[in-house]
Amino acid sequence: MKLVACEAVAQRLEGGRMSTLQAVKGMNDILPSEIAKWQRFETTFRDIAARYAFSEIRTPIVEPTELFARSIGQGTDIVQKEMYTFVDKGEKSLTLRPEGTASTARAFMQHRLGAQSPVNKLFYLGPMYRRERPAKGRYRQFFQAGAEWIGDDSAYADAETVAFAHSLLDALGIKEHRILINSIGSNETRANYRKALYDFLEPKTAQLSVDSQRRLELNPLRILDSKDPKDKALIGDAPSILDFLGADDREHFQQVQEALTQLGIAFEIETRLVRGLDYYNRSLFEIHATAADLGSQSAVLGGGRYDGLLETLGGKAAPATGFATGIERMLLAMPNAETAPQIDVAVLVAEASLRGDALLLTERLRRAGMRVDADWRGLSLKSQLRRSDKLGAPFAVILGQREKENGVVQLKSLKKHEQKDVGIEGLIPYLQSELESL
Ligand code: AMP
Repeated sequence: MKLVACEAVAQRLEGGRMSTLQAVKGMNDILPSEIAKWQRFETTFRDIAARYAFSEIRTPIVEPTELFARSIGQGTDIVQKEMYTFVDKGEKSLTLRPEGTASTARAFMQHRLGAQSPVNKLFYLGPMYRRERPAKGRYRQFFQAGAEWIGDDSAYADAETVAFAHSLLDALGIKEHRILINSIGSNETRANYRKALYDFLEPKTAQLSVDSQRRLELNPLRILDSKDPKDKALIGDAPSILDFLGADDREHFQQVQEALTQLGIAFEIETRLVRGLDYYNRSLFEIHATAADLGSQSAVLGGGRYDGLLETLGGKAAPATGFATGIERMLLAMPNAETAPQIDVAVLVAEASLRGDALLLTERLRRAGMRVDADWRGLSLKSQLRRSDKLGAPFAVILGQREKENGVVQLKSLKKHEQKDVGIEGLIPYLQSELESL
C-alpha cells in the first residue's frame, strides 16, 4: 500500500471507527474455546502421517505467482479469479499460496530432495488463500493438511495414499463418509476426452449455466464439477472418461481398485470426478463426509496422482501422488469430544502479605512440570476459586497465614469438593501422584 493510502486509512480509524475493525471477510479467528478441536485434528494428523512414514515440510506462505500459474493451470478458477496476487515494491509478482502441492514440489526441486532419496514422503499443515465466495465450510483463508508421495508410480502408492486418508477419518471419528475414485489417464486421454466432451456439450451451449458456457471454451472438464442443477442434468449423459483410458492407465486403475479391496476400503467409482487442478493424471479420489452439516461443501479431502508436475515446473520428471484435506471442514464433520482442562493447579492467596510466597510456590510447581494459573489482582478467595473452577483446574492450592505458620498449604480438590492440609515439602510429589491418577 502506498504511504498516502496508509495515512488515509489511519485518519479514518482515528475518526472513531477503531472499534469496528474486523478480520478480512472470509478469514476467521480461531478462538481459545475452539482450539482443543484444532489441536486434536493436528495431533491425529501428525500421528497418522508418522504411521505411514511421512515427514513434515514447511514452506513459505508467499510464492512467485508463476509457480501457481504453471502448476495449477491458467484455465482453472483458482488462477483465473481466486488468487491473492500482489506486486512486491513494484518488482515481482507474488501470490499467497492457494494450495500446498505446488509449493512442496518447488521446495523438493530447489533442495534436490530427489537426489538424496529416490522416494520422498512429505506432509504439511498450514493456511491457504483463495478469494472464493465465503460460505459455511468455504473461506478465503482456510487451513489444509496434505501429504505428497514423490518418486513411486506404483498403484500401491495410490492405494496407500487413500488408506492414509481413510485412517485419518477413522481416527478422527468421522464414520459416515464416501470415498469416490476415478482415473483421468494421460495427457492424451484428457485431450481426447476434452474434445469428446466439447462435442457433446457444444450443441447444448444455451442450456448451460453462464459459468459453464465460459468453461466450455476454456476447460470443459471443469463443467463436470459444476454444482448448477442445469449443468448437472446435462452432464448426466456425457461420455465417461474411463472409456478413453489407454491400456496402461486402465491396468493401473484396476490395480488401485484391487489394492483398496484387499485393504477392505470401500470406494465408489465416480466417472464425473475430474477435480479442478490441471496437474492431475491417472487415479484421483475425493472423500465426502455425509452425516456432517456441511451442505454443498461435503468434500473434506481430495487428491490424486500428478506424475507430470515436476517436469512442468522445470525439474526432473518424477511420479507423485498425494492429497489435501480442508481442516475447517474436517472439524465440522468431527464429533465433539469432552475437552481436557488446560491447567492442573490454581494457586490462591488469602492475604496480600503472602503474595511473594505464593509467587515462588507457583513457579516451583511449574518447574516440576505442572500447568499453573495464579491471579494477582487481589481478588477475594471466593472470586479466585470461581476463576479456578471456570478454568477447569482439578486442584487449588490455598496459601493463608495459618498455613504459612504451620508449613502447609490447603489442597482443594475441585472435582471431589474435598480439602485437606498438605505439608509444603511433600506437596509436589503428592500433587503429581494425584494428577496422574485423574
Ligand atoms: P483442493 O486443494 O481444491 O483439492 O481442496 C482440497 C480440500 O481443501 C477440499 O476437499 C476442502 O476440504 C478444502 N478446501 C478447498 N477450498 C476451500 C475453501 N475455500 N475453504 C475451506 N476449505 C477448502
